[in-house]
Amino acid sequence: MELSELSKKRLEGVDERLKAVVMECANRCPFPFNVSEGLRTVEKQREYVKQGKSKTMNSKHLVGKAVDLYPLSMDRKVVDWSRFEELAELIFQVASDQNVGIIWGGNWKNSFDKCHFELR
Ligand SMILES: [Zn+2]
Repeated sequence: MELSELSKKRLEGVDERLKAVVMECANRCPFPFNVSEGLRTVEKQREYVKQGKSKTMNSKHLVGKAVDLYPLSMDRKVVDWSRFEELAELIFQVASDQNVGIIWGGNWKNSFDKCHFELR
């Protein structure tokens, strides 16, 4: 399902390989999802660390090599929390088709971050 204009805008500055994976994933995905964040400023990262939302100043978001994706309900009104695994599976499929290595935050033991996908 097509990404919203806002989601496309949030892919600006993101590494082309990661962007291509997200766009193709949107094409194949039977439900909508949005991009909540891509490239992040140092100021914003500092704010997140202060707020406890992030633990590192080495985030791949700072270099445009990470995106945060949220599966949505069919009417796009709310996050569908039951579909992160499904979305991750599709991302891995597309990434493997395009020969791109992806790391999923949902596989991290320490900071559990299901919305987060970054380039390996
Ligand atoms: Zn993230």
